[in-house]
Amino acid sequence: MDIFHDNPMLTGVRQMLGAFAKQSIRPIAVKHDRDESMPWDLMKMAQGFGMTQTAVVDGRKALTGKDEDGESGNAKKPASQARIGVAGSEELAYGCAGICLAIGGSGLAASPVSRMGNEEQKQEFRKLLKGDDEKGHIKVAAMALSEPSTGSDISGLSTTARPDGDHFVINGHKQWITNGASAAVYVVWANTDPTAGRAGVRGFIVGRGTPGLVPGRKETKLGIRASETAQVHFEDCRVHKDMMLGVGQSSEGLSDTKKMLDSTRPMVGAQAVGIARAAFEYLVERVQGGTMQGTPMANHQRVAFELAEMEMEIQAARALVHKAAWMADHHMDNVRMASIAKAYGAKVAQDVTSRALTLLGEEALESGHPVEKWYRDAKIYDIFEGTGQIQRRIIARSIFGVNPT
Ligand SMILES: Cc1cc2nc3c(=O)[nH]c(=O)nc-3n(C[C@H](O)[C@H](O)[C@H](O)COP(=O)(O)OP(=O)(O)OC[C@H]3O[C@@H](n4cnc5c(N)ncnc54)[C@H](O)[C@@H]3O)c2cc1C
Repeated sequence: MDIFHDNPMLTGVRQMLGAFAKQSIRPIAVKHDRDESMPWDLMKMAQGFGMTQTAVVDGRKALTGKDEDGESGNAKKPASQARIGVAGSEELAYGCAGICLAIGGSGLAASPVSRMGNEEQKQEFRKLLKGDDEKGHIKVAAMALSEPSTGSDISGLSTTARPDGDHFVINGHKQWITNGASAAVYVVWANTDPTAGRAGVRGFIVGRGTPGLVPGRKETKLGIRASETAQVHFEDCRVHKDMMLGVGQSSEGLSDTKKMLDSTRPMVGAQAVGIARAAFEYLVERVQGGTMQGTPMANHQRVAFELAEMEMEIQAARALVHKAAWMADHHMDNVRMASIAKAYGAKVAQDVTSRALTLLGEEALESGHPVEKWYRDAKIYDIFEGTGQIQRRIIARSIFGVNPT
């Protein structure tokens, strides 16, 4: 137990997923990175442990089998859900960030369903994810927001959802979508009324096989290659109005997507901490066992100071991530902290993996070397879920009250 895992539930999640990362994720991480393939068998195994694709909609009970007070079957809203999320995310990404995203990527789609969906929509989401697909794989979900011309500036979405009787007709192209080619269910964001500004942007639940929903090309990318990223196209895709999120609520349209990202950013920061810790622990082991110019490596100040610097950064990043999650669990406005945690986590992951490459030299440049992989994985954390610049923009706005130009 420590300051970050100060109750049995958090300690249990950390221990369970830490062991899973070491025993089941690490041995297959390099293979799935090299082949750019999803670890379907492991994902099914993780589902069996309670890491279900609907976990975010189902709440904490899905992972731990218990509610906040430790009693099963109580529908009380958990008060440590965000902290469990960050503790678990760090452990899984410590195993492999790509596999972590393969296991948890559906959470991106489940998050808006959980926040804005009514009971019927949650049931539909669960139903679409039930069972295996025709290949025997578990079913996964995708959250389709980004477009070829709109990533950071989501108010510029060009995908439209035109009302037509009891339906909306969706047209547009989405890019860089996690699980985009394989998903059984999509949460797609589209503009329902260009004159309504941000309030016109709404999310829709769309099942695979709906005419006009066309999964597109899979991307080949630098890092987190065990997680699938693909295009998704909507061509006159008719979706019943009952599947529009936020119906019957005082939905704020696009603002809801921003709240959704505030809830997932601490977990993304925690994944970055997991990558940094993986590289750090690898180095500690190497330094302890190695010699340089005839003396133990750890006796060389330059080497020891590098590791001391890394340890400072990792501890600080973890503290920020847990603070952002703790605020979410206590229903506090964590917009600034979520961005700080995500941006700093990404910075630390890039810094630690880069320093690790420098310390190890050419051996770590070889394809398939764990440090080379962690270095590639780390860069993505500065790009998705809001780039480093966008996080700084959010932080600056929270300090000065205006968007920097
Ligand atoms: C592996 C991966 C998985 C992803 N999964 C998903 C997913 O599941 N669903 C989804 O919807 N999207 C997903 N994305 C997309 C991701 O969220 C976007 O790539 C990200 O938001 C950045 O958008 P962009 O690439 O269009 O960059 P742009 O928005 O075009 O930005 C380009 C550059 O300009 C900078 N910039 C932009 N605006 C500003 C500004 N106002 N001030 C200062 N600098 C600025 C950015 O920081 C960046 O450096 C994923 C991306 C990756 C890499």
